Amino acid sequence: MVITLKQNAEQQYINQLHKEIKDAGCRIHACIGDLYTVYGIEGDTSKLDEKTIKANKAVKDVVRIVAQYKLANRLFHPEDSVIDVAGIKVGGKSPLVMIGGPCSVESEEMVCSVAKKVKEAGGCMLRGGAYKPRTSPYAFQGMGTAGIMAMVEARNQTGLPIVSELMSADKIEEFEENVDLIQIGARNMQNFELLKEVGKRTTKPVLLKRGLCNTIDEWIMSAEYIMANGNPHVILCERGIRTYETATRNTLDLSVIPIVKEKTHLPIIIDPSHATGDWKLVEAVSLAAVAAGCDGLIIEVHENPDQAWSDGAQCLKPKKFQTLIEKARAIAQIVGRDIA
Ligand code: PEP
Ligand code: MN
Repeated sequence: MVITLKQNAEQQYINQLHKEIKDAGCRIHACIGDLYTVYGIEGDTSKLDEKTIKANKAVKDVVRIVAQYKLANRLFHPEDSVIDVAGIKVGGKSPLVMIGGPCSVESEEMVCSVAKKVKEAGGCMLRGGAYKPRTSPYAFQGMGTAGIMAMVEARNQTGLPIVSELMSADKIEEFEENVDLIQIGARNMQNFELLKEVGKRTTKPVLLKRGLCNTIDEWIMSAEYIMANGNPHVILCERGIRTYETATRNTLDLSVIPIVKEKTHLPIIIDPSHATGDWKLVEAVSLAAVAAGCDGLIIEVHENPDQAWSDGAQCLKPKKFQTLIEKARAIAQIVGRDIA
């Protein structure tokens, strides 16, 4: 961190600044110029807050050099993290994971049937929401515990590890016991109390989706919340962000793949279904994501999309999911990867 002092800064405010920096365990390296005094701050600056420092009357400017996240930062952990999801490795040079399944679990029979199709198509994990974050309170809210138990039955029948979204801390034990990969949805990316509890009370890997309107650094800071509270097993998931464009449900930001890989050591998977909102676009953007170096895809798959209880317009039928995986395999090989 670099701090520039104001010309004629008053000593009492300079003293206050020194105290703040020392209390955070950092050291000051002063460079006294003809016009300005500049402080290079040495040590772990993650506990220093730029806005608080900027509020000091002696301070003209503050520039952070090292990002505030430490545990997620590639700088302090140069090798890729490989996250184990019920024996399936995600990240590094591991084969890409193809996760398929419905937006919502609609019944045990339905999810077991689609799970078999996902497996036949070449998918290696099953997704399915039992607690749904719906825009309307009148829309289907998910089957709750019965939906989680239906996912467990689908895993028993197919062997596919299961991914489901956790919306509130009171369900953590249910997820820790039953789910293989705990999804934190876009709308909860900055639910800091939930992130803290997930960090403290789960050991299962966490799939952290990017918020609808969040920057990459905000997203990584949310991963840091989970990691700093005790669970280092975080996989990032880009699912599109809100822009002025209306042709797609969201705008898929593919540039995050190389950016996230430079900034962090965490795996990143792409959700082309919520990104586009349109099944016809899912294959094209999926292949682009594989070419860009993602560690996997999470795709909504439904046997009868026109009857789906949520997100039917973006669901692929199992056959299309299979074709997509076959094409993705060819692209993956070009970029030196395989498909799990
Ligand atoms: C979902 O995966 O069904 C979902 C609601 O995703 P997101 O949080 O990305 O909107
Ligand atoms: Mn959905």
